[in-house]
Amino acid sequence: MANVWEKISSKEKEEIFSLAEEYKKFLGLCKTEREVVNYITSLAMENGYKDGFNYNEEKLIFSDKDRIVAIYKRGKRKAIDGFKIIISHIDSPRLDLKPKPLYEDSELLLLDTQYYGGIKKYQWFSIPLAIHGVIVNKYNRRQYIVIGEEEDEPVFTIADLLPHLGKIQKDKKIDEALPGEKLDVLFGSIPLDGEKENKVKKNILKILKEKYEVEEEDLVSADITIVPAYKPRDIGIDRSLIGGYGQDDRICVWTSLKALMDIENNEYPILLLFVDREEIGSFGNTSARSKFLYVVVKRILEIEKSLNYYSVESALYNSKAISADVTSATNPNFKEVDDPNNSAKLNYGVAIVKYTGSGGKYYSSEASAEFTGYIRNLFNKHNVIWQTGIFGKVDEGGGGTVAIFLAEYGMDIIDIGAPILNMHSPFEISSKADLYMTYKAYKVFLESE
Ligand code: MN
Ligand code: MN
Repeated sequence: MANVWEKISSKEKEEIFSLAEEYKKFLGLCKTEREVVNYITSLAMENGYKDGFNYNEEKLIFSDKDRIVAIYKRGKRKAIDGFKIIISHIDSPRLDLKPKPLYEDSELLLLDTQYYGGIKKYQWFSIPLAIHGVIVNKYNRRQYIVIGEEEDEPVFTIADLLPHLGKIQKDKKIDEALPGEKLDVLFGSIPLDGEKENKVKKNILKILKEKYEVEEEDLVSADITIVPAYKPRDIGIDRSLIGGYGQDDRICVWTSLKALMDIENNEYPILLLFVDREEIGSFGNTSARSKFLYVVVKRILEIEKSLNYYSVESALYNSKAISADVTSATNPNFKEVDDPNNSAKLNYGVAIVKYTGSGGKYYSSEASAEFTGYIRNLFNKHNVIWQTGIFGKVDEGGGGTVAIFLAEYGMDIIDIGAPILNMHSPFEISSKADLYMTYKAYKVFLESE
């Protein structure tokens, strides 16, 4: 295990910083799963990928419901010999609007929300927030809305209690002091002339109608999310780290995508899979548990004219996969939860996580000695600087990934990704050195024989 900065050449150091610039652009643009899908689709199309459900080409992209995507690149070998698969998730913890979000209180208009994924609620108070979403109106017309990302646009926020009146609040447990029902977003405050009741709400509805052609009932069916309004930034006087929202798991999304785009020749066919709903347990029709992967593999076998009774199962069984997800980095502020020998550290490169889960390895898919050894030797051979990762001390908590759902097909799968500090916060921290090593690790894996 080594600090990446102490091991690399000056040429690699330059590559690290330029890669980070590209990544920050992506991270700033993509704050919802649909925006990630848009980004992936445009990049793939620019690079010659065609719609896989309609074309029989060497480079294909499959997507469904704007929330799940697969990219396929043909190899020298056939699909039946197995794919090199990298799966990552495109959703991140956030606040979603309730179906009837608008309410007026104390002549202020608020948006009622429900949080999505594991958040520490207090972190969402008192920060600038943006609105991203999709609205379908009464004519079934779909409209994308993003407000709060441009300098001249308004932002939104959740007002906390001032310390002067926080005497009782500060004695409560943290989740009782700042419960989920208080995560309501300040949305406006000017009343409509001549109204007596709900006068601010009426004015805001008027603005929504005039400016965005949105009516109150449109919100009932909308996918609208509240995310931090700021762009990713460099952290540290040496600019070595990146702060930004949604790096779990978009750092793995982007590095795997970038790795694929930079590959010329691959022995095995490649399949990158980008799934939604991981943060809530991978339930739903765009999650890792959905039949999407199965359908995509079936379609590829059909294109290769090798579809038979059990070829889909064989192709999946013969595949080798990386579950590309972030792991927790040692936090000097909270070292007591970590196992210093085994936990990942920022700047120590991509983390190989043999097993996740919690307690007695519950809910985890552990990679075998054979597969973990294969990965380790591969990285060593190609100068990928790697480290081990685990989710804290035994019995300290834990976390799961989508690895268990692909493991069901019998394929070898292992968790490999960048370590993240401040994970699941509105401002997650990654290392530029780890970003680079994660990219390199995925590329070496996809190219390997
Ligand atoms: Mn994750
Ligand atoms: Mn997560």
